Amino acid sequence: MAFGNPLVPDRIWARLRHTPDGCWEWTAHLNYKGYGKVSLHGACKSVHRVMYQLLVGPIPDGLDLDHLCRNRACGNPDHLEPVPKRTNILRGQGLAAKNARKTHCKHGHEFTTENTRITPIGHRECRTCAKAHARASHERHMARMAAGRTP
Ligand SMILES: [Zn+2]
Ligand SMILES: [Zn+2]
Repeated sequence: MAFGNPLVPDRIWARLRHTPDGCWEWTAHLNYKGYGKVSLHGACKSVHRVMYQLLVGPIPDGLDLDHLCRNRACGNPDHLEPVPKRTNILRGQGLAAKNARKTHCKHGHEFTTENTRITPIGHRECRTCAKAHARASHERHMARMAAGRTP
């Protein structure tokens, strides 16, 4: 992903700093949790979510974006990964416990060391499926762009 990509408004790029470790750090307002905030179309939005939506595509239903770089002010979509929402996990204690005993994801991919990602909340995630999700949402995004509409 290129820093300065025209899909993102200049006023946003102007407030992002490209750090040596590849983060695009928000230099303007951060909320109390350390996430970058920007006002867009009259609403206050999270910078990392806006960047992901502009450069990758819609965030899949029920998923939140996790910072792989642990820098919450970072808006580089390469550093973001969609993970299950924390609220969903807390709501489904029984389900989470059941999932922990499974050896395969619901699409039949084995939970091997390479294929398993442990989310910050201790939930196991199938990397193969996560990649497929990201690819599918990217393709939807590209199809929309080709149809001449902006996200
Ligand atoms: Zn980063
Ligand atoms: Zn899978």
